[in-house]
Amino acid sequence: MYYISTRGHPERRKLCEILLEGLAPDGGLYVPETYPLVDDAMLDRWRGLSYPDLAFEILSLYIDDIPPADLKAICASTYTPEVFRTDRIVPVRALETGLHVAELSNGPTLAFKDMAMQLLGNLLEYELARQGEELNILGATSGDTGSAAEHAMRGKTGIRVFMMSPHGRMSAFQQAQMFSLQDENIHNLAIEGVFDDCQDIVKAVSGDADFKRRHRIGTVNSINWARLVAQVVYYFSAFFQVTEENSSKVDFAVPSGNFGNVCAGHVARMMGLPISRLIVATNENDVLDEFFRTGLYRVRGRADTHETSSPSMDISKASNFERFVFDMIGRDAGRTSSLFDGQLREQGFFNLSSDPAFANAADRFGFRSGKSTHADRLETIRDTWQRSSTLIDPHTADGVKVARKHSVPETPMLVLETALPVKFAGTIREALDREPDRPRQFDGIEDLPKRFKVLPADAQTVTSYIAEIVQRAAG
Ligand SMILES: *Cc1c(COP(=O)(O)O)cnc(C)c1O
Repeated sequence: MYYISTRGHPERRKLCEILLEGLAPDGGLYVPETYPLVDDAMLDRWRGLSYPDLAFEILSLYIDDIPPADLKAICASTYTPEVFRTDRIVPVRALETGLHVAELSNGPTLAFKDMAMQLLGNLLEYELARQGEELNILGATSGDTGSAAEHAMRGKTGIRVFMMSPHGRMSAFQQAQMFSLQDENIHNLAIEGVFDDCQDIVKAVSGDADFKRRHRIGTVNSINWARLVAQVVYYFSAFFQVTEENSSKVDFAVPSGNFGNVCAGHVARMMGLPISRLIVATNENDVLDEFFRTGLYRVRGRADTHETSSPSMDISKASNFERFVFDMIGRDAGRTSSLFDGQLREQGFFNLSSDPAFANAADRFGFRSGKSTHADRLETIRDTWQRSSTLIDPHTADGVKVARKHSVPETPMLVLETALPVKFAGTIREALDREPDRPRQFDGIEDLPKRFKVLPADAQTVTSYIAEIVQRAAG
């Protein structure tokens, strides 16, 4: 399997070569040259598999530059009941008739990003050992991504993490999840600024090719293809859990920000998993809902990006969206380039409302969308609690709200649960005036000793700090 750029760069690359890459050299995103297709016989065989075995079957279609026995071992050591606190890894529970929740948030940081990041940590450690290399991961986080990355990379040989977060702006729980890690290879940088300042520093460093090469800097952000392909697995797993035969169809509703999670659903559907509709649920930051309703893709400025009570979906643009648009317009790389590198960069939007390809988004690719607001979120958390005595987190609530709008009686609806409520206790209190349950191993984490370094919002200071640590380690 080779990977190509959505913008037509002539190079074809293998998975291990893009494991650490963000963008392709031309600024596009990597996509598989073709989607491997599954047939009924494969689905029959996969239906009874454990999660790690299913992961191995699906990943082997995309990764052929790791020997199968090694890939199998990596899957087996990633998706364990010890890490995911449940034998099924992604259990599906019924919320009400026809509406199910697929639990993606039983990993170490209680959010769905663990599903992919845990695999990526093990793939990276394996590949770096094979090449005799090391890697310094630089990232910016406002919460979930950073802690998922740190928990996936902690203690890994050959990997260091430098994770920037806005000083004093994360919830106490999220901060504790990161800052309480005592591992030598994890470096928390509390930046005196907001999340955008942290992201600007990542951008500045990423633009400094010389510094990046000398200090072996890489990123593990949401456009990483290996993360995306890891997410394809749970669409299959969830499908098997709510159907009895492979001819059944299901719908998925996915709380969305950067279009990473639901893009994996699109890939699963392209492979032939019988998904009828993929329902994109956004919060007040409705870039994607606007596109799927109207065909207008309009990136928001900072001033128009809202801080909401489903904060992990607070985005100004959807970083993975180009992958879908590439497919939607018939894999025309020149056109993708002129939309994303031309129109979007020049005028901040592109409009496909009168383009025949836009009708494909719904008709051929099954996309629907909807938006959920703070009031909807509270109402959905309350209502779900009253109807089914289950507590759902604010992001999942956005998914449930939009799922109900689109659900049809004959097709099972699967909502992806992207976080546990304990991560967002403030909103749960606001909705229900009660405390969310806390898994036992998280008792009192806010009181643990913290390890972090406060730095000004200045790229130069951050790069000097990184350089010093890397050089000291090199002796
Ligand atoms: C990251 C995240 C999302 C959004 O996922 P995308 O892949 O960016 O669309 C939704 N919910 C939670 C809890 C998250 O951490």
